[in-house]
Amino acid sequence: MHFLELKLHANLLKAISELGYKEPTIIQEKVIPCVLHGKDVIGSAQTGTGKTAAFALPILQRILAGGNVVKRGKHVTALILSPTRELAVQIDQSFKSFAKYTNITSTVVYGGMSIEPQKDVLKKGIDILIATPGRLLDLYKQEYFDPTYIETLVIDEADLMLDMGFIDDVKKIEKICPTEKQVLFFSATMPDKFEGLTNSILRNPEVVSVAPRSSVAKSVDQKLYYVPKAKKMELCLHLLRNTIKGNVLIFRRTIFGVEKLEQTLLKNKYKVVSIHGDKSQTKRQEALDQFKAGEVSILIGTDVASRGIDIENLDVVLNFDLPNIPETYVHRIGRTGRANEKGKSYAFCSADEKDYVVAIQKLTHITIPVVEEHPYPLDPAEKPQVHKKKSGSKHKKGRKSEASKKKKTRWY
Ligand code: AMP
Repeated sequence: MHFLELKLHANLLKAISELGYKEPTIIQEKVIPCVLHGKDVIGSAQTGTGKTAAFALPILQRILAGGNVVKRGKHVTALILSPTRELAVQIDQSFKSFAKYTNITSTVVYGGMSIEPQKDVLKKGIDILIATPGRLLDLYKQEYFDPTYIETLVIDEADLMLDMGFIDDVKKIEKICPTEKQVLFFSATMPDKFEGLTNSILRNPEVVSVAPRSSVAKSVDQKLYYVPKAKKMELCLHLLRNTIKGNVLIFRRTIFGVEKLEQTLLKNKYKVVSIHGDKSQTKRQEALDQFKAGEVSILIGTDVASRGIDIENLDVVLNFDLPNIPETYVHRIGRTGRANEKGKSYAFCSADEKDYVVAIQKLTHITIPVVEEHPYPLDPAEKPQVHKKKSGSKHKKGRKSEASKKKKTRWY
């Protein structure tokens, strides 16, 4: 299929061609016509499938078809909700590049940054707003965000919204938008918990699902290392010295884990940056920019902070800790090996993570090849370590986020 067949405005086609997009991806082929027809959509797709353009292009097209956007005055007609700030910024950048040859404007608002400049932009009027839920509600309460003219509401990465505890905010936002609107709901996974929500906010939706997760895993050259928990750091250094070539995104489960690994790698003279939920937005963006620009070749992150971030040319994903949700493993490794190039992924498995491997292999229908020859093998008889639960976290620090104000301890 060619983009021409999707009946998009010439000025959008020009921008798409400048971006080097030759043909629509599968999700774009399926979603764009539905959105253009005004249908609600449930899209089961993860980052890397081209889902941003799948909703952004038809939204822009519909605004263009609605007449001269300058003359009719600037109102927010499309609202895109994103769980993380990085993802929100990325979506805004996509809108801006697609809208380059139009006079449609977009902006992004998120927490962790001063609200004043965001108020100023909203006051001047814009067409498309990309927002994280908490900050959007703040702006609404202060009467800087007016939902009256919203025609399309996009809920992106809905499963992550659920994981991060934003789903109630999303419901509130849906309610303040006009009843007559188009809703586009995207999620990498579709937990059963969504059924009630999608039934209540979507009308007769078109369900579009792309890339069964197992196929993503097949395009990645995966390796598994069994290693005692206490030896993971050494094994990581060993791999960085001897095996890993190119840039690497390392996943750890907790903020504490990310920081500990970062300190160790810095001590070992590696250039490394990190990204997690307790870092300020500026710091997170700085880290990401440095990694994307190739100034540092190692980025360490927690899942939630790094999920959805589009990093081109990622050579290696290292699962320092294995995720307890098998889909998360597939998201992580799905970031490497884009554009038909085979990426590499390594995973460390300690005695207490063996069940996770079983679940991952069941989901992907792939037996991950095990590397037996390495300096820190795990004794097959080793039992999982049991930790005593401490009350509260001694690692809680940093800026006061909405979550911490509500006395929720962040772990991502
Ligand atoms: P997304 O899934 O929206 O995060 O997109 C993943 C990456 O694919 C981004 O870098 C997009 O710029 C790129 N992309 C999206 N659609 C296309 C297309 N039709 N052809 C080539 N690249 C695309």
